[in-house]
Amino acid sequence: MTPTDEQPLDGPVRVVWSRDMLAYDFGQGHPMTSERLDLTIRLAQDLGLLDGPGVELADAGVASDDLLALVHDRAYIAAVHRASSEGVVDLDHGLGTTDDPIFPGMHEATARVVQGSVDSALAVWEGRTAHAVNVTGGLHHAMPAAASGFCVYNDAAAAIRTLLDAGAGRVAYVDVDAHHGDGVQQIFWDEPRVLTLSVHETGHALFPGTGHARETGGSGAEGTAVNIPLPSGTGDAGWLRAIDAIVPAVVRGFAPDVLVTQHGCDTHLLDPLTHLRVSIDGQRAAAQMLHRLAHEVTDGRWLALGGGGYAVVDVVPRSWAHLIGVATHQPVDPDTVVPESWRSVVQERYGRRGPDRMTDGRDARFSPWTSGYDPGDDVDRAIRSTRSAVFPLIGLDPDHD
Ligand SMILES: [Zn+2]
Ligand SMILES: [Zn+2]
Repeated sequence: MTPTDEQPLDGPVRVVWSRDMLAYDFGQGHPMTSERLDLTIRLAQDLGLLDGPGVELADAGVASDDLLALVHDRAYIAAVHRASSEGVVDLDHGLGTTDDPIFPGMHEATARVVQGSVDSALAVWEGRTAHAVNVTGGLHHAMPAAASGFCVYNDAAAAIRTLLDAGAGRVAYVDVDAHHGDGVQQIFWDEPRVLTLSVHETGHALFPGTGHARETGGSGAEGTAVNIPLPSGTGDAGWLRAIDAIVPAVVRGFAPDVLVTQHGCDTHLLDPLTHLRVSIDGQRAAAQMLHRLAHEVTDGRWLALGGGGYAVVDVVPRSWAHLIGVATHQPVDPDTVVPESWRSVVQERYGRRGPDRMTDGRDARFSPWTSGYDPGDDVDRAIRSTRSAVFPLIGLDPDHD
């Protein structure tokens, strides 16, 4: 590990984790297996990231129904309880579908994820931690009255609502998962104090089908929903160019008190559910950009969440170990060899070796938007559509920085 360009250690950083978090698991054969979390935390541990003097591991209790009701309908919460304890399928509330099968204890398992994100948001807001990471969170598809896309309760939205209630004037949410952050967007659609910004594979090719550039927020909140739908096949250079062309300018303009980010790593070229072609190195670069942005704009108040990511061995553990490294001011050098202790666990469980380095060997370079617009390039046209849709609403010039 090297102290590259990161900020110096500026206080403890909270990492949400306990073995209880492994209960959020939809069962055999479902992509959302908690094996992804187990392998991530093992890798972070084996890299020494959780033993640093500034790292505080924090477990979480089960969120109360009153807390969940900040962003969910009471009838939906009651339906999750019934599904969880009595096995009652409720398709009207999205419970018992292929994406969201019910399982015993699903209420407690998801409510614990919510509590982890809410506790972390408050710790950041009250200055008890410099940053916080909850890789078990980022359940961005959960809707006010329905489970959706492997998400039961929306921990990100609950954390944001809690920040507003605690006195934050404005909160920015930046979601770089391959899928549109539709649940968070919907919950804050009419809320001018919350910016939701999602960079994702186009809804024409991927669930949930929303997140078009023209979705810019409800009445009284125009310009506080920002969507960057990218073409299938977009790789590091285009993905990072798009993030860089829009996210910093919009977040600076919004001037939030806290930054909440969602780091779903299903943007990776090996992800089985999506069609973007981002690398571990690109994902690491995005985490660094957002970390720097938090120090610049929100005085470091940053809550980083996990999200999607279904390449359980080859992608998720490395991507989120890098995220933990960035957030705890112990950035992992990409050339670092993956610890043998971790690889032997993979060998035991999967009968193969797993990745040997913390890099995909990419340089994560991109040319900035100021280098010029190429009308023949699909990514550039997507960037331009979003800038044209949003920038005038928030007093920015879509054609110039
Ligand atoms: Zn920092
Ligand atoms: Zn996703």
